[in-house]
Amino acid sequence: MKAIKNVQLFDFVDYKENQYLIFDDTIVHRGSMEEFPEVSKQYNINQITDGEGGLVIPALVLCHTHIYSSFARGMALPFNPKNFLEILQQLWWKLDSKLDLEMIYHSAYCSAMGYIKHGVGTVIDHHASAKDITGSLEMLKKAVVDDFGLRGMFCFESSDRFDIDLCIQENLKFHSSVEHGLYNSHFGMHASMTLSDETLGKIKEVLGDMPIHIHVAESEMDQQDCQSKYGISVIERLDKFGLLNPCSLIVHGIYLSEKEMSITAERGCYLVLNPLSNMNNGVGLPDYRKIKSRGVKCLLGNDGMSNAVANEWQALLFSMHHRYSDPLGFGLDDLQQIILNSYEYANSMLQTKLGRFDKGYQADFMLLDEQNITPIDGSNALGHLFFGYAQSLRPSHFWSGGKLKMEDYKILGDHEEKRKRSVELAKKLWKDLS
Ligand SMILES: [Zn+2]
Repeated sequence: MKAIKNVQLFDFVDYKENQYLIFDDTIVHRGSMEEFPEVSKQYNINQITDGEGGLVIPALVLCHTHIYSSFARGMALPFNPKNFLEILQQLWWKLDSKLDLEMIYHSAYCSAMGYIKHGVGTVIDHHASAKDITGSLEMLKKAVVDDFGLRGMFCFESSDRFDIDLCIQENLKFHSSVEHGLYNSHFGMHASMTLSDETLGKIKEVLGDMPIHIHVAESEMDQQDCQSKYGISVIERLDKFGLLNPCSLIVHGIYLSEKEMSITAERGCYLVLNPLSNMNNGVGLPDYRKIKSRGVKCLLGNDGMSNAVANEWQALLFSMHHRYSDPLGFGLDDLQQIILNSYEYANSMLQTKLGRFDKGYQADFMLLDEQNITPIDGSNALGHLFFGYAQSLRPSHFWSGGKLKMEDYKILGDHEEKRKRSVELAKKLWKDLS
């Protein structure tokens, strides 16, 4: 049994001062420090962390990323895109064409270290690798879940760019192995513009009740392609094939009509926003107000831009203020709802309890150094987190499933050999691509 004492607890709803937690893989006791000497005697506690007045928050859920993009950091390829499709053609589709299983494993291994450093405990990944499709999801899971004890959801981006039967098999094979609590999977699809009607039909035949994970209307080109080939919008096309199972992830949704937003909400799908990526690609920004008014539940991802998600909180709030030319165009209450949605979603998909400090909830949380320079209480704790920590949220300690993964900013274990191997593999990949 372990304990953390002398901390403030904030779970994005309740703020409690001067608290302790006693936990193994789940939280077994929470209370005020006055009770701790007495209560702690009832348990065989062999590891106590003194939080010294720091703030403990639940580990974060990153709802859309691309671990395979890790090796693009610092990569220089000829790059002169005129539009979104050319960004894919000149960068991402080249990168994913050469990734092998060893590269995938090492990119996930190094990413997992990044997630811990940035307080991410659950990762939802959307993977592509043409060279090695079969076995790729197992590599991601091995690094993120088996080696680091984080939680994850993985899927392969089925696309007509690849051998589609292998993509379908990879999604199905991995899904058959899922272990609730630790990891799950989606049926991955790249985007409407790289999926023929024949492929959508094939996917429907095997999909069952699996939620899909797909980019939708990330740029206007996805809608234009769909309208010109099929005469309907992307969401209508996916719905026509019966692919919008509950808990499906619709990613980006920048160019959704109000009708498409309503279909997304009615089918129980979630929309994952990725504001930093959208700004980086120059593709526009989602219309959050309309999306909210149509009752669509939103989540937040980083689209592979980093290993963090708290910086996306800021990107979303600031970009929406900018989009609407309104300093009240998106509030901390909107952000709070999106963060709470992420725990609701993870709990539903993983069949676990994340995101609260109540008895029986998973011991997935982080300790942030005390940095208060103004009073903090339940009414402004999210504001403290947003303006005081989010731009570079770096916990000093991080636990997943009750296991300490990082102590005093240092990830436990020896990871140097794998990090060095990752540099070698990236070098090889870049050479292959040049
Ligand atoms: Zn993406």
